[in-house]
Amino acid sequence: DATLYVVATPIGNVADITLRALHVLLLADVVACEDTRKTGALLTRFGLNKPMVAAHQHNEREVAVKLIERLRGGARVALVSDAGTPGVSDPGARIVDAVRAAGLHVVPVPGASAAIAALSASGLVNDRFHFVGFLPAKARQREAELSTLKPMTATLVIYEAPHRIVDCVEALMAVFEPQRQVVFARELSKLFEEIHRCPLRDALAWVKADAHRERGEFVVLVEGAALAADAGDAEAERILQILLSECS
Ligand code: SAM
Repeated sequence: DATLYVVATPIGNVADITLRALHVLLLADVVACEDTRKTGALLTRFGLNKPMVAAHQHNEREVAVKLIERLRGGARVALVSDAGTPGVSDPGARIVDAVRAAGLHVVPVPGASAAIAALSASGLVNDRFHFVGFLPAKARQREAELSTLKPMTATLVIYEAPHRIVDCVEALMAVFEPQRQVVFARELSKLFEEIHRCPLRDALAWVKADAHRERGEFVVLVEGAALAADAGDAEAERILQILLSECS
């Protein structure tokens, strides 16, 4: 009762919905979602039919006021986005903020997120990651942001829209060292899922090798600066050992 549930939904394969998400959606009095058609289709798929209210980037604050009224009246509200976890490069944060500020109960119902799925299968060994999300669409701003990210030691997690993947890779190649490892996690949990790792110098050729690649949804992971520096340190250490052995 009187709770806002922030519910993760699948990023491709509908079987990735959690049992708890289904239970919460079943008991919800209203589902706040980005796109009522998309969420309606997901609910129908699981035999659910619920009142929905559209909450997107442009009306989050007004919707929050209405949802707070509903919650004060004792309603159970589920908040979902089109795919994955609400609030992660998706609307939702403003609603959660307003509901919490009103002193009402907010409960996360965890599940799929493209960033975590991509990291989990990347094989990049690093306990730290920095979630970048979408880079700016304008070239100059994008390169400026990439320059500030360049010295970071954490793995960088970038979201990219299908039509901008080539621009994204070109910008990465302009700013980062060509030997940095990158991982493309494309169409995760979908039929044409691909996870490809290569040095940045080979990245554009890979994207362009198949016209379908410019149509998929991508997470791009970029190896952190420290790992590249470690390789340099190892080489310095090897040379130092040779010099020391010469001295003795
Ligand atoms: N809220 C979502 C999450 O938790 O991951 C992210 C939504 S954001 C609007 C959409 C972006 O997420 C896409 O452009 C892509 O970068 C990434 N994404 C979503 N689904 C994906 C998938 N199945 N495979 C690869 N990337 C995906």
